[in-house]
Amino acid sequence: MLLGAVADDFTGATDLCSMLVRGGMRTVQLIGVPRHIDARPDADAVVVALKSRTAPVGEAVRESLAALDWLRQGGCRQFFFKYCSTFDSTEQGNIGPVADALIAALGSGFALACPAFPTNARTVYQGHLFVGGVLLNESGMEHHPLTPMTDANLVRVLGRQTDGTVGLVPYATVEQGAMAIRRAMTALKEQGRRYAIVDAVSDAHLIAIGEAAAEHALITGGSGVAMGLGANFRRAHLLAEHRDAGSLPAVAGHAVVLAGSCSRMTLTQLARARAQLPVFEIDPLASPHAAKLSAAALEWSHRKLGETPIVIASSAPPDKVAEVQAQLGRDAAGTVIEDTMARIAEGLVAEGARRIVVAGGETSGAVVQRLGVRSLRIGAEVDPGVPWTYAEGGSTPLLLALKSGNFGGPDFFLRAFQMLES
Ligand code: ADP
Repeated sequence: MLLGAVADDFTGATDLCSMLVRGGMRTVQLIGVPRHIDARPDADAVVVALKSRTAPVGEAVRESLAALDWLRQGGCRQFFFKYCSTFDSTEQGNIGPVADALIAALGSGFALACPAFPTNARTVYQGHLFVGGVLLNESGMEHHPLTPMTDANLVRVLGRQTDGTVGLVPYATVEQGAMAIRRAMTALKEQGRRYAIVDAVSDAHLIAIGEAAAEHALITGGSGVAMGLGANFRRAHLLAEHRDAGSLPAVAGHAVVLAGSCSRMTLTQLARARAQLPVFEIDPLASPHAAKLSAAALEWSHRKLGETPIVIASSAPPDKVAEVQAQLGRDAAGTVIEDTMARIAEGLVAEGARRIVVAGGETSGAVVQRLGVRSLRIGAEVDPGVPWTYAEGGSTPLLLALKSGNFGGPDFFLRAFQMLES
């Protein structure tokens, strides 16, 4: 284990994992703080996915330190704290306190902070975070229900979250490359700054920043700034040159899609799938009990499981979702359907399903928990941000692709399985 990362949410962790695999590192994602008895995975990078983004500060710090401790004992040489590329944090601000605690534990005294991810239109200029062409606080993020971001100046935002001080490595320096960035960060550290927000508006910048931070104990940021880390380890002869970092064991078995996302892209993907695959639609109002709903779906799938992938979906357009929520209550509806999907997943695995695509972030969480999966080896991406993964450590070998609602292209469900055949 060379790189050990702590991520503040599940899909963010997967995103970082994919970036590391692309950089040539064999990567495993662990779900939740590993237990001391957990075996260390055979991987170059390990990313511990927490659910700490909106957790109280004390809890976020405690869990992050516990994860760090486990990663350090596993021999990791460098550590990464992954947060959202829109710097999502609550009023109380978890990012600063968690980073402070990690810096203190590692004794490094300093870390860079760079959430930029130009591929996804997140850039940092003069310390200000832009989403597309607009400032963070004008991007819609100012209305986020859980983590409203009302200030785009990250020097200020992080400054409010830490008892240390925050400096800036500006665009003009970053443009000059890794050596200039390294010098600027060293100067800020010597001036007593604990953090440097580092500007970045292109992938070339992110790679240069990664190179400049090769000797840093801790790097903090979005997945973008991890882009150049594999190359650092290769330069140091710690990582093999040519290796397919995303190769997964082959797994034979039935293929299924479980869709609990009602996001627009998932609805489009389902419409495409309907033309070619058998689809069972769950009607939560027919009988809003997870046991009954899942039994009906499993009875159908028992007859359909076979050569082609099958699809089981609760996904519905906004007017139907509103109707379900009006009758059942918003939270209750969500919980019943998540529980239904989790039970269906369990039933399908018992019937020999081994390749499973799940659509929906919360839905994925419920399924993974029910299946007892605690570790995912990251494979090649079907679409950006959605890799196939191999669930390790369980009694049954499984391939899972966990898709956040709006991710993936229109033919995602079809291509995901085709990719496994090729
Ligand atoms: P996304 O990634 O698109 O946000 P999630 O799985 O995170 O998808 O969230 C979708 C939520 O909607 C889940 O809680 C799910 O149980 C719920 N849900 C799914 N289908 C329906 C439906 N037909 N009516 C109401 N809620 C639904």
